Amino acid sequence: MPAAFIGHGNPMNALETNRFTAAWTALGRSVPRPRAILVVSAHWYINATAVTAMPRPRTIHDFYGFPPALFDVEYPAPGLPDLAAEVSDVVHPTWVGADVDSWGIDHGTWSVLVHAFPDASIPVVQLSINADKPLDYHLELGAELAPLRERGVLIVASGNVVHNLRRMDWKLTDDGFDWAQRFDEDAKTRMLTDPTEFATLDAHRDFGEAVPTPDHFIPALYLAGLAGAADARDVDVLVDGYAYGSLSMTAYTLGLSCPPATGEGGSPQPPAGLPPDGSNI
Ligand code: ZN
Repeated sequence: MPAAFIGHGNPMNALETNRFTAAWTALGRSVPRPRAILVVSAHWYINATAVTAMPRPRTIHDFYGFPPALFDVEYPAPGLPDLAAEVSDVVHPTWVGADVDSWGIDHGTWSVLVHAFPDASIPVVQLSINADKPLDYHLELGAELAPLRERGVLIVASGNVVHNLRRMDWKLTDDGFDWAQRFDEDAKTRMLTDPTEFATLDAHRDFGEAVPTPDHFIPALYLAGLAGAADARDVDVLVDGYAYGSLSMTAYTLGLSCPPATGEGGSPQPPAGLPPDGSNI
């Protein structure tokens, strides 16, 4: 089963059609139907390693300042409690908690899956990002998840390699600042040629500006770990580009050649009244 990293950007992408969402749709159409989807989302960033283990995970609207239509989005995919035990097994002795009542399906997950798998019929399980752990922990945990690919589990990591909300310029719907482009391009070279060294991007001169907080960067480490456990030559860029100057929208696949998507247009304009840097995207 393939795996992917998606740069999810603005949650409004859930309601839009543009070249990024077209690529996510193409991804969903190209993969063989998975038994389940395991998602590592930037938006479940907690002080533990955990998986959702409820049979009916709720759709979480973990943002504010966006239009009611976005709060109305539901992604009613079932959970798969058995997968929680499988994840725990494959990463043993790393401890993985089973969350039965706190999280669900957050917008890092559903803003992508509404395009990739719109009928929400495939079970979805989320794996949290343990905020207490160093970058190498996440790279190694990603590699340990590799056996799940042989068992019909599609692993999707969702974040943004470059993600600096304080530097966003909403007018730049399809452009990136020089430092954002430098970092994203060097990250791309690393992912495509030497993914096991992806965590050493923390020494890059633009790391501080590109990754002011690690939550959106870390999901890419899971794909890098999986790529290192497979063959880096199996990594492809699904789509790339920038949003608001300070976000990169680059997405990668592992073990999937996806036909080029035909969507047009960059990221959405901000909704009226959104605070300039206060939204949790
Ligand atoms: Zn986000």
